[in-house]
Amino acid sequence: MSRRIIPVADVSAIPHVAGAPLAASGTLADALSRPLRDLRISVTDRCNFRCVYCMPRAVFGNDYPFLPHSALLTFEEIERLARIFVAHGVEKIRLTGGEPLLRKNIEWLIERLAALTTPEGRPLDLTLTTNGSLLARKARSLRDAGLSRVTVSLDALDDMLFKRMNDADFAPGAVLDGIAAAQAAGLAPIKVNMVVKRGTNDGEILPMARHFKGSGTILRFIEYMDVGTSNGWNMTEVLPSADVVARIGEHFPLVPLEAHTPAETAQRWGYADGSGEIGVISSVTRAFCGTCTRARLSTEGKLYLCLFASSGHDLRALVRGGASDEAVATAIGHIWQARDDRYSLLRGSATDSTSAGQPRVEMSYIGG
Ligand code: SAM
Ligand code: SF4
Ligand code: SF4
Repeated sequence: MSRRIIPVADVSAIPHVAGAPLAASGTLADALSRPLRDLRISVTDRCNFRCVYCMPRAVFGNDYPFLPHSALLTFEEIERLARIFVAHGVEKIRLTGGEPLLRKNIEWLIERLAALTTPEGRPLDLTLTTNGSLLARKARSLRDAGLSRVTVSLDALDDMLFKRMNDADFAPGAVLDGIAAAQAAGLAPIKVNMVVKRGTNDGEILPMARHFKGSGTILRFIEYMDVGTSNGWNMTEVLPSADVVARIGEHFPLVPLEAHTPAETAQRWGYADGSGEIGVISSVTRAFCGTCTRARLSTEGKLYLCLFASSGHDLRALVRGGASDEAVATAIGHIWQARDDRYSLLRGSATDSTSAGQPRVEMSYIGG
């Protein structure tokens, strides 16, 4: 029988609401002077794919005990927490999962979040990461609900290889249809994320680059990361982003582009002929913890300060325990102020336990 591995790893703490009140002022900074600007909200721990690097079927099998519905934050709870995070300085919210489009009536949540504004009155950058399988059907309603943009994951164009990687018999054509529907609905600029596993899909780097070059869609290559403990990660399967850039550059000359913002995770490269750009996310070979302004809210309302954290702070317990907005804001404020997480920066200097055995939360639970 499958073992639900998350709670075993997660010795989460119920945040203290005592202590000096800390009103949300938008100026919060953590122990390394990093502001709080981005919030990733996981709306479900379920997925219709079984990507080998994320939810391998051997672990996430038919009898895997996913969270019961009562454990999930409701849309009202998510909206309330999001409003408090926005008051603390969050300007960008990304919905993720699991597969966020599997959450019933996700459009209702998007409507609520799209109505939030920053303390200065600006609308949020509201986006969503999806495997694209339901996007052709949902792009229009997502846009109508107020979603700004969408990021779609696609690891290969080759039919057999893509099916092998998602291990759920989904063809790449369905994802491409979803991307086209998103484009037609105005969810642009669309970003496409490709996780590169050396020896598995690195042969798809060029076909993918060729396919999206000149399309207005921004293709981004993500180094295969050692998130969670179930994917059997091994450094030999990581293809450094520098190699990706070199491989594409041999065929289509590239020039480096400036980052849009200091906290941008991707390094941007433009095609020298002006036909668009690609991005590389070098989480393993070039850590960007120094500018990491991201908080993550798990499906059951735990606040994680790092993708590689092994425990979260139980905001659902606060919310369901009747805490006032001020008390929740105080708790979030103190948690963020104490944050000194920088896993990727330390990875190189850590012991072997960072890549094997150490309990860490799974990406499908915490969201990418
Ligand atoms: N199901 C949605 C999707 O696939 O887009 C959203 C959730 S998924 C966890 C978010 C992103 O994390 C995806 O782009 C996925 O490719 C990426 N991801 C998952 N496991 C990864 C790993 N081990 N290394 C790098 N990226 C990973
Ligand atoms: Fe599902 Fe996304 Fe994880 Fe793939 S990467 S298994 S689509 S949550
Ligand atoms: Fe941020 Fe943690 Fe990733 Fe560093 S390892 S960039 S702190 S999420």
